[in-house]
Formats: sequence, C-alpha cells, structure tokens
Amino acid sequence: MLTLTANDIRLGCTATDWQDALTQASQDLQEAGRITPDYHAGMLAREQQSSTVLGNGIAIPHGTPESRDAVTSTGIRVLQFPKGVTWHDNATVTVLVAIAAQSDEHLDILRHLTRVLDKPGLARKLAEADDAEALVTLLSKEPVVPKCDAQTLCLGVNTRATSELAMSAAARLQGLGCVDSAFMKEIVSQPPVGLGQGFWLVHHSIGSIRPALALATPKEPSDELAGVFCLAGPGDDCRELLERIDNFLAQNTPLESQSVDAVLSRLSGEQANAVSERVRLLNTHGLHARPAKQLVQEARQHNADIRIRLAEGDGNSVSAISLTRIIGLGARRGQTLIISATGDDAEQAVKAVCQAISDGLGETVSPLRHHESQPESAEPESAPEPLADDEPLKAVAASPGLALAPAFVMRQPTLDYPATASDANEQTARLGRAIDEADGQLRTLIRQAEGGEAAPILSVHVEMLQDDDLYQAALEAINEGASAEAGWWRAIDTAARAQEALADRLLAERAADLRDVGRRVLANLCGVAMPTPPDEPYVLVADDLGPSDVARLDTQRVRGLITARGGATSHSAILARALGLPAVVGAGNRILTISDGTDLVVDGERGCLVPNPGAERRDRINRRLDQLTRLQAQAHECRNEPATTTDGHTIDVCANLGNTAHTPDAVDRGADGIGLLRTEFIFMEHPEAPDLDTQVKEYRHAFDALDGLPLVARTLDVGGDKPLDYWPLPHEDNPFLGLRGIRLSLTRPEILETQIRALLTAADNRPLRIMFPMVKDLEEFRAAKAIVERVRAEIPCQGLQVGVMIEVPSCALLAHTLAPEVDFFSVGTNDLTQYTLAIDRGHGQLSAESDGLHPSVLQLIRMTVEAAHAHQRWVGICGELASDPQAIPVLLGLDVDELSVTSRRVPLVKACIRGLSREHAREQAKLALGKATAAEVRDALETL
Ligand code: PEP
Ligand code: MG
Repeated sequence: MLTLTANDIRLGCTATDWQDALTQASQDLQEAGRITPDYHAGMLAREQQSSTVLGNGIAIPHGTPESRDAVTSTGIRVLQFPKGVTWHDNATVTVLVAIAAQSDEHLDILRHLTRVLDKPGLARKLAEADDAEALVTLLSKEPVVPKCDAQTLCLGVNTRATSELAMSAAARLQGLGCVDSAFMKEIVSQPPVGLGQGFWLVHHSIGSIRPALALATPKEPSDELAGVFCLAGPGDDCRELLERIDNFLAQNTPLESQSVDAVLSRLSGEQANAVSERVRLLNTHGLHARPAKQLVQEARQHNADIRIRLAEGDGNSVSAISLTRIIGLGARRGQTLIISATGDDAEQAVKAVCQAISDGLGETVSPLRHHESQPESAEPESAPEPLADDEPLKAVAASPGLALAPAFVMRQPTLDYPATASDANEQTARLGRAIDEADGQLRTLIRQAEGGEAAPILSVHVEMLQDDDLYQAALEAINEGASAEAGWWRAIDTAARAQEALADRLLAERAADLRDVGRRVLANLCGVAMPTPPDEPYVLVADDLGPSDVARLDTQRVRGLITARGGATSHSAILARALGLPAVVGAGNRILTISDGTDLVVDGERGCLVPNPGAERRDRINRRLDQLTRLQAQAHECRNEPATTTDGHTIDVCANLGNTAHTPDAVDRGADGIGLLRTEFIFMEHPEAPDLDTQVKEYRHAFDALDGLPLVARTLDVGGDKPLDYWPLPHEDNPFLGLRGIRLSLTRPEILETQIRALLTAADNRPLRIMFPMVKDLEEFRAAKAIVERVRAEIPCQGLQVGVMIEVPSCALLAHTLAPEVDFFSVGTNDLTQYTLAIDRGHGQLSAESDGLHPSVLQLIRMTVEAAHAHQRWVGICGELASDPQAIPVLLGLDVDELSVTSRRVPLVKACIRGLSREHAREQAKLALGKATAAEVRDALETL
C-alpha cells in the first residue's frame, strides 16, 4: 500500500518556523508530482482546524477534503528536521510525514503510519537516521497485526480435558491460517501451564504464521478448568496478546458469560464493572486524524478511564486519550465503536463521548442508509462487467430443468431512515406494529406454502419474530435514542453476527434467516413494499434469495431462478428443487447487470445461463422445451407403470423423503417405494430426542401410505453440517471428517436402539429396509447390525433387510468384503463425490466442480455393483446424481438396480429409463468410465 522510495525522503532539513516546514513539505510533494500548488492552501487550512501533530515528534500534514482535487496521485514525503521545529501547538516536530491522498486512501495511510510509528523507539530512530534507505525500510514495513477476535474463540466445548481444549484452540488457529501443522505438533507434546483461576496457557512460536491468541472454554467450567489460552508467535510479536491475557486475568472473577461479546470485552481490558455503550461512526472518511483528535479532547475532559474498540475489529481496545491508537483502529463509516469507561465520571463520560461521535466529531455527518449498515469494505469492489449476449455463463446447477423467459431482477429496495429519534414510546409502538404486520404476512405465506418445504422455514421466521431477546435488544437501543428502524436493525445485525461468529454453516444460514426476517420488519417500518414482479412469466434474478422470497414466488409465473451467490445446498437451491423450478446459483455479480426484460435461458441441468440467446440457440432451446413439456405430460400419465427399458429390464424408481407426511404424494407420483427416508429431519423437528412412541407414530404414517411398497430408512445421520440442538458436539475443524453418521450413533447406542425398535414396531412385518450412513468399513457395519439383531430377536420383522450407504470411498473399495454380510448397498453420491474429490459439497465456489459424473466416482459405483451382484445383493443410488438426466443412462449401464430421487422427479426418471436400451446404457457407461474428468464425461455423453 505504501510505496516509499529513498527519493521520497529528505534528511537533515532546517526550517525557520512551522509555516516554512509546511511550505517545504508541499513543495516536495509538488516536485514528486503528487499535487498541484493549490494543495498548499488546503494543508494550511487543515492546520488551522487543528494541529496534525501525532505525538512522539511526528506530524502528518495533509490537505482538507475540499483540497483533494489538487492531488494528482496518492503518496507521502518524509522530511526530517533533526533540530526540531516548533509547531503551532508548541509541540516539537522532528519528522514531517506529508500526505497527499485521494479519497479514503487517506485513512489507510494514517492507519498504517500510526501502527508503524507506535513501535517503541521508532520516532527517535526516524529523527536520528542518516540513511534514507533505512528510513524507507522502517516506514514501509507492514506492521504485524496479531489476531484475537470472535473467530479465535471456541466457547463451550464439550470436554473436561485441558489437553483437548488446548487442541481445540490450536486447531482453531490452524483453521484460520495463523499456524501450521508444525505448531500443532508442538502443542500436542506440551503440557499446558497453569495461570490460576482455572485458566491455562499453551504457547509456541514454531509453526506460527501470524501472532494469534485463541481461547477455548469447556461447556461446564470448574475451578480447575475454566479455559485454555493458545498463543502463537515469537514473544516480541506477542506482547499485545499477552497484554490481553493479563487484561483477562486481572478481573480475577469467574467467567460469568460464555458469550463471545463478554469474553472479547474482558480480553480487551474493559473492566467487568465498566459502563459501556455502542455507537455507530458516521464520518464519511472514517475516524481519521481530525475527528480522532476531537475524540481525544472530549475524552480528556472526563475523570474516567475511557477505552474504545471496534465491534467488528480484532478485539483490541485502546485508550481514548491516545491519538495514534485511535487512528490505528482504522474505523470506517458504518462501523460500530464500543466505548467503555471506569472511574467516578464513567457514565457521563461514555454518554458524552458517544454523543460527540454521533454528532460527527466536528464534521458534518449524515445518518446511515440501510445498505450502509454493513461496514464499508476496505477495498471497494469494482463494477462487474456486463454479460455478453448469446454467451453461456457457467455456474452451479442447483435444480434441474430448462427455461427461457424475460428476466426480472430483484433489487433490494433502498430503505432510508433516521438513525435517531427522541420519542422512545412512539418508536416502540411503531416497532410493535411493524412486527405484528410481519407476523401476519408470514402466516399468510405459511398458509400458501402449506405442506411444502418452505413452510417450516417460514415458521422459524415467525419464532424469530417472537424472540424476546431480540425485541428487548431493540427496545434498549430505542431507549438510548435510536429510531425504531435503527434499533431493530442493530438488534438483528448483532444477533446475526453472533451466529456467524460460530463459524458453522448451518448457524450461518440462521443468520441469513435472521436478516431476512429483519428486513421484512424494516420494510414495514419504512412503509416500503418489496419489489413487485411482472404479471408475465419471468426468470427471477437476484443476488441471493431468502427463504421467504422463494416461498413468495408465484410458481405459475416464475420459470426459473438465477442467483449471484449461494451453493447447491443453499436454502434457495433446496427450495427451488422442491418447487420443481430450474435454478442456477453462485453465478456471480455480473448477473446483476442484466436489465429487466432481457431474455434469459436457465439451464438447471448443465448449470448455465445465457442472456439474449441468438436465433439458432433460441430455436434449439424452444425445441428442447417442447420436448420437455411433452415428456413431462407423458411421464405423468405413465407414472404408475414400471421403469422398464426398451429391451425389457426393469429397475425401481423410488422417492427420497425427509418428512413422512409427504409419503402419499410420493406414491401418487408413481414411486415404487421410499428409497431414502432421511430420519434425522424427524429428530430435528423435535426439541429433544423423540421417544419410542413418537417415532413409531411417524414411521407408521409412511408404512400406511406405502400400502405394501418398501421403505428404506436411513438411521439418524447427524453431525457434520447437520447438528442436533440436544446432542451438542465438540467443535471440530473438519466436521465432515469428524463425528457424524454411524460413528456418532455408535457413541450413543441407546438412541440408535430406540430408533430401530421404533422402525421394527411400525413396520409390523411390512417391507422394511434399514441402512446406516457414513459407514467406513465392515467393523462399523457389524457394530450397528448387532444392535438390529438384538432388537429383531424381540420384535420379529419378516423380510427385513439391513444395508449400508456407500458414501465413504473406503466402503466402495472394500465392497467385496461387505457384500457377503449386507443385504443391499445404497450409494449416497452426494457424500461419495465430496469425499472422493475432496470438495465440500456446500462450497459456494467449488461445488460446481463437485460433479458425481466424475469418472473416479463412477469407478467406485462400478466396484460396488460388481461386488454386490457377485453375492446377489442389490444396489440403489440415492444421491442427487440419480435424477441427473445425463447420469441416468450411465447408472443404468453400470447395472444399478434402483434409483431414488425427489418425489417430483419420479415420473420423469421413469420415463427416461423407458426410452433407453440396456445395451446403449452400457455403451454410455463404458464411454464415461474411460474419461479423465467430469467435463470430459459430460461432453462425451452430450455428443452421442
Ligand atoms: C448422499 O450423501 O448422497 C445422501 C443421499 O445423503 P445426504 O445427502 O442426506 O447426506
Ligand atoms: Mg450423505
């Protein structure tokens, strides 16, 4: 950022007075081609407003914002005055760092400088240096910024072992890129050192990439074990972090709250008895030198120790009377400052400082607009490049299908509102009305979405609206002078950030839900209606869609969905699949440049979109669409006929369900049974593990509706990205490689046993097949099957089959060892692809590459089928690949016996099989197996 050369430094200057020094500085900037002569007047004016002396003999003269037009390129010049110059505020200045900055680079330069200049002894070195190069090195060096913030906290880990906490904390630092595996090795071999009060410390510099401090606390703290600090980095770089540990221990009280905010506050040195308040910074150019100076002046007037920290920052709190430290916070417009104080005058001091900040610290400020409530990014994004006509754009295929219709781009309305209000009662009443209104709107949406996948998500929104903590937080803000809008959004934003800080994908999605529900109330408060789509059919284009946006869609008119963000497992993707809408997600910001009315192709099978297709492409798409419509109608008509190939081979096409209430719908769509019941969703719907009777009732629904058709129930598959509130798990850095699926169930065999008992009881001799998720080898299968055998001895179940899901590559590779002991295999291609290709299945950018048609995955399926058939066992496919039209012939050619897909796709998948011959399918499979990449497979299949 700072590109200083020896030419920017002038050593050994002398000046008659401060004006002379300033003139020299502006001349130097001019000669360096940074400014025009007009800038000098701006520099003088700036000094008249207040002195630019930072302390330590350093001044940073620069122009007023109005003089920025006179800056031709950003840069600094350093003038050394070894004999000193008396400045107009009587300070002696030995080094002038003259700044020419356009816009906000100003703040970054200042932040950089203050961090550098804060180094002990540096000011003296600068004043005495006789080598310009050495001075360049001193000033250009990027300061090392230690990491200690919400991300480095692992609170409430389910363990009582000091060493496990140390590892959790170290693993967190590794996950954040602060340390490498060498550090982990050191920590494993090092016993933690007691710090007193139940706190422990592990520290090493080997393997440290950046100085960092993590803290892990146990779920149930005791006098012996209240938490373990893990510190990384050489002692010298860790001074500030050690100070934080000191701050923390200095309070000498048990940790009362495991909340991230409370721990950060204690680490930052805020006293437990400190009065504190939050305030938003409104200054256009952030907390740069002039407003910072005003702040210091205000702070000095009070008989209190006042500290300031950034709520969004690295957790460091600084003294409100240190100008360099305040500038060093680098606070930007829209960010939240936490002001805390102790001492006689604390309460009044905090109020006065907050007021001064709200008033702009001597600058004219305007309230934040809604879109500004996210802090401005340090590096503004450049405007996205528009899309070219008739050129396909690849993205993530989220829901199959094809559409061609004009675009409707959903742009979030701008919500303008005042930040403050003086009539708290009126604001509270307004908020109450807006919440009630939102509640009514949501309940209407739930009625419209009844029975669908969106309804439960919307019900969660209703619950969020009723959350008393959220309401109280908003009231608190209102009573402190915020408007209803600002108070409500502050409460939502704080709660959402807290969820996000937990670094768990599912909780992060809850944060998206919170913001979604928050925006609804905010729009009601501002009296702004959400954007209205056209009456004609359209393709919906959006940055991202909240669940309630999707639920609100009029499926009669929406032909397809495209979003800039999100992966294949985002809410919008899941809901699009449930609604049967073709969808492409994660397409990037460029799609937001599309104008309303532009014709758009959405190809949810190939995962691409095309704006303004040319005549040839349009014809091709229209032909495919006609074909699809005919196919759909025919498929629906023949849905109850078997899926038999043209040469007489029949395979079963079953449905995947997460809710037994949807069984009649699956049967009505022609499903030959339930091929995958994701029983964890039944567990997730209950506040505690459902007991035997509750489960029996649930499963019985399915058997009754199936009327003799088989049900494949997968035992509880939690862990990974599917947590259960009432089954807390220790934090894992790689939850997908941790305690999940059968591994987890085997740690609580009583829960698994109850589930199996419920399944056998509900089946009552009807065709039940039980399978275990995430099995890695025969040993795990045997352990789980032993439980089934135990229960079966008590509750006989005719024709019961017990199988495993093939989701872990080891199981496919060892299928020949499992086949003699299992009754069937069901390949979970979602996880099998994830583990084979080492790509997180929900990864926003990579999930497009996580393609189950990858030849490696197909080889594993081939091995599974061969092993199974050698022992007369059957193989099903229950991952998303089973409903991929390009994959169906390949899977058929690999000789699988069953496909299980979402209910909606059952008729089409059956129709697709009826149009194939086994011989042709085998050719397709052979072709695919011979390719090197998924793209090659898809290209080859397309040309056949
Ligand atoms: C799979 O992994 O393919 C599967 C069907 O299981 P789930 O998607 O529920 O993990
Ligand atoms: Mg799975």
